[in-house]
Amino acid sequence: MDDLPIVVQKFGGTSLADPERLDACAGRAADAARNRRVVVVVSAMGDTTDWLTRLAREIAPNPDRRSLDMLLATGEQVSASLMAIALRERGIDAMPLAGSEAGIRTDEFHGRARIRSIEATRLHDLLDDGVVPVVAGFQGASEIGQVTTIGRGGSDTSAVAIAAALEVGSTGGCCEIYTDVDGVYTADPRVVPGARRLDRISVDEMLELASVGAGVLQERAVVFARRYDVPLRVLHSRNPGPGTEVLRESPEMERNPVVGCALRTELGRIAVRSMPRGATVQAAVFKALSQAGVLVDDIVQTESADGLDVAFTVEHGELAEARNAVREQLDRMDIGELDVEVEIGLAKISVVGTGMRSHVGVAGVMFEALDRVGAPILNITTSEIRISCLIPQDRAEECLQSLHEAFGLSRDAEAVDG
Ligand code: ASP
Ligand code: MG
Repeated sequence: MDDLPIVVQKFGGTSLADPERLDACAGRAADAARNRRVVVVVSAMGDTTDWLTRLAREIAPNPDRRSLDMLLATGEQVSASLMAIALRERGIDAMPLAGSEAGIRTDEFHGRARIRSIEATRLHDLLDDGVVPVVAGFQGASEIGQVTTIGRGGSDTSAVAIAAALEVGSTGGCCEIYTDVDGVYTADPRVVPGARRLDRISVDEMLELASVGAGVLQERAVVFARRYDVPLRVLHSRNPGPGTEVLRESPEMERNPVVGCALRTELGRIAVRSMPRGATVQAAVFKALSQAGVLVDDIVQTESADGLDVAFTVEHGELAEARNAVREQLDRMDIGELDVEVEIGLAKISVVGTGMRSHVGVAGVMFEALDRVGAPILNITTSEIRISCLIPQDRAEECLQSLHEAFGLSRDAEAVDG
């Protein structure tokens, strides 16, 4: 038993939405348990987390985070209990565990706690005894034992963190993420009909795609996978097929300059015009934004005859708070009346690929594809393996289709050898 590979199987909320689907996932875990040591990690059933949040808000518009955490954590505990019952019904010895019982320790920031450590003795003991631990995802306990949750979509992160703590890679196992799509795609197939499932993708590419809007995996989960070298696989829960393997980069992966493109919508932009040169105003403004808890995306500074213009993007939901924080900070400073402009209805479109490191001309192809559909580029940001453009949201879908086409992503990977 001790030398069997350890596999962590994570099932998402849609895959567990009703007893029938949950039981099908139990079947998946039971199959795996025949020749592997299995740990199951579960999300809350369907939209339970949204429902619980609404319930609390019906009582108080702004419930305190500690109470909310206690409430939301029950969603995953329901799934874990039912999953253990389903497994036992199939003759598998299974044990449901709350995050705290599975040894997940976090900091004390309720609602957005970070996993600090995983004390994996309990999980190891259960595995040694031939038991399948069924862990409630999305939660842990703070130093003083209070229930915490780790942010929306956090069960992916729970699963990868557990897989890291159990060193699944060194046992020949991996972390399997079961969801409602059959893998990672070259683009969202709902927007781009010709989008293709990728057999594999490097963890660096996955991280960039997750950070620019590909919803299939939570970004933090990919960060964990990269840091601790956890082999990952994304699979459809009802129709697993080959799925997509997320793995460390290998030489033959650099075939295509671009592996996928993604869209992040519902963005706004705030611009402060004609700031005095230097760094004082930028420092004060962005400090005020962070104190207001606003998550700032891309920041672009340009120089004009009247001084510096700084623009940054934020999600629509944070726009009002961001504008107020900037306005109030500027009013406190002795720099005269500066213009603060707010734009809404923007989207960020990105292409990602490690092949960009060695291919020239990717930016040119991208801008040409946007120009072909007549979309203006409002700003451009890049990383070593990503190029992103801010565009009007109402043009976003045709832009994505145009990019997908321009990089030949619909065809076989082999056909577009650069
Ligand atoms: N149930 C939580 C959510 O809906 C966590 C998760 O599903 O991963 O955000
Ligand atoms: Mg999810």
